[in-house]
Amino acid sequence: MATSMIQPQLALLVINAGSSSIKFALFANETLAELVRGQIDGIGSAAAFRAKSPDRTIDEQLRWPLEVAPKDHSAALHFLIEWLGQTLVGVQVAAVGHRVVHGGSHYTEPVVINEAVLQELESIFALAPLHEPHNIAGIKGARAAFGDITQVACFDTAFHRTQSFINDTYALPRSLYLEGVRRYGFHGLSYEFIAGYLKEHFPERFSGKCIVAHLGNGASICAIENGQAASSTMGFSPLEGLPMGTRSGRIDPGVLLYLMQHKRWDAHQISDLLYKESGLKGLSGGLSNDMRTLEASDSTEAKEAIEYFVQHVQQEIASLAAIMRGVDTLVFTGGIGENSVLIRRRIMQGLEWLGLHVDETQNASGATVLSRAQSNILCLRIPTNEEGMIAQHTKKLATTDRGRD
Ligand code: AMP
Repeated sequence: MATSMIQPQLALLVINAGSSSIKFALFANETLAELVRGQIDGIGSAAAFRAKSPDRTIDEQLRWPLEVAPKDHSAALHFLIEWLGQTLVGVQVAAVGHRVVHGGSHYTEPVVINEAVLQELESIFALAPLHEPHNIAGIKGARAAFGDITQVACFDTAFHRTQSFINDTYALPRSLYLEGVRRYGFHGLSYEFIAGYLKEHFPERFSGKCIVAHLGNGASICAIENGQAASSTMGFSPLEGLPMGTRSGRIDPGVLLYLMQHKRWDAHQISDLLYKESGLKGLSGGLSNDMRTLEASDSTEAKEAIEYFVQHVQQEIASLAAIMRGVDTLVFTGGIGENSVLIRRRIMQGLEWLGLHVDETQNASGATVLSRAQSNILCLRIPTNEEGMIAQHTKKLATTDRGRD
């Protein structure tokens, strides 16, 4: 295990705990510069660790023999903290920020975690059963490991709480809305980061009508008007809207009734179908959920999966533009949005009728501005940084939290 050249200093640790993984990033408390990021995958089975610093002076990979691999989140966090201590000597964690997928309708912004917050988050497990319990396991593990330093929860739903009732609801009896059956929206930390980037670098665009397409393994699109979320393609759960790596996206609920009533599928089977077997993976005949594999394939199924994805992105962009009565700026972000020249080109070419004109050279070179000067819509490629967003929130809340002591 090598020690790094990173100077002794205070740092902010960002944790994103999933079902069998913990992603992490460490930022300098003073400048918010990224020091190192990485992840532990396969927790509970064939666990592996990797970490890299931006300058590559840290570049580590490790795969544990099964008998000694971390068995749960707590053991994985224990390893991570020891590794940080030994690798970044003198770097002291001042506060921890956690990504929490669901903040219900209550949390409209990040919050310092205490017992009451934890209890409230546990009470909304039912809203995000596949994510929230793991996020909370990460928080509990970090609280046990770090004692009483400030820990902050940052919610993927919070950014969307400015959406009007019309965009927050389904056409169901109001009693269900009051009970919490709402269109929460997700990827909020990514959209907040992009909105902040626009405010800093394209201020006149920030105060206009923007559509941000976060296209990754999970994919959604958000309409942002004057810096605030107006509507999003994801709703009650991260299943609605676009087709994703393995998630179905929009589907007629009648299909689910058919599976339940005529094929006697239970909730578990339907959940697996919608979350794990559908989207690009299902459409490509099981070939892959990974866009790179589909782009490289000659199979008809792979081509159709790409065509379905592209068309649905175009459809949702047009639908969000209709909600805002126009669109001035389109932003691509997420793994596919940031890296796939082909998918961006195909999406933009299909939006020429909206007055969007792609600059093929700029698109191919991965520039920030992807549209031509005469385009009615400014089209941008902006790499997102959800962990950086969490670090910003954590720093702000840790400062005020310490001020209260
Ligand atoms: P994310 O969930 O944001 O990490 O994005 C993961 C998705 O981005 C996967 O479908 C990858 O195949 C896709 N991706 C990453 N790099 C590229 C690339 N160069 N071309 C096409 N897709 C890519």
